[in-house]
Amino acid sequence: MPGVRELLGSIHWSSDSSPLLGIASNQDQVGYGHLSLTMARRLLRDLAWAATHFVPPDEALQLCPHPVNQDCDCRKPRPGMLLTIMDYYGVDPPDVLFVGNHDIDREAAVRAETAFSWSAEFFDQPA
Ligand SMILES: [Zn+2]
Repeated sequence: MPGVRELLGSIHWSSDSSPLLGIASNQDQVGYGHLSLTMARRLLRDLAWAATHFVPPDEALQLCPHPVNQDCDCRKPRPGMLLTIMDYYGVDPPDVLFVGNHDIDREAAVRAETAFSWSAEFFDQPA
């Protein structure tokens, strides 16, 4: 997506001071056996590094490995992954902006009581 690297790469990320970075990703390919959990996590780490030159700690790099039809607490639009990340960092929903590109992302933000921005709007701004 245009602007992602420019904007995220201009921010000094760390795991102990604001701004803090977390990633919440549905990875149902793992649940279907198309991708191992290790590989899914590695791909997310690589994605984070490519976009931000920072890799969040595993606790803040959450993925739901369950198939779509499994009843779990983590799969977006459920807020489990967002709540886990906020708990790990010790931050409250009013201090969080969740950027996403699907209705399930917006719904997860609503359920976790965080602010939300559509990625197309968030990344279409000066770095
Ligand atoms: Zn799950």
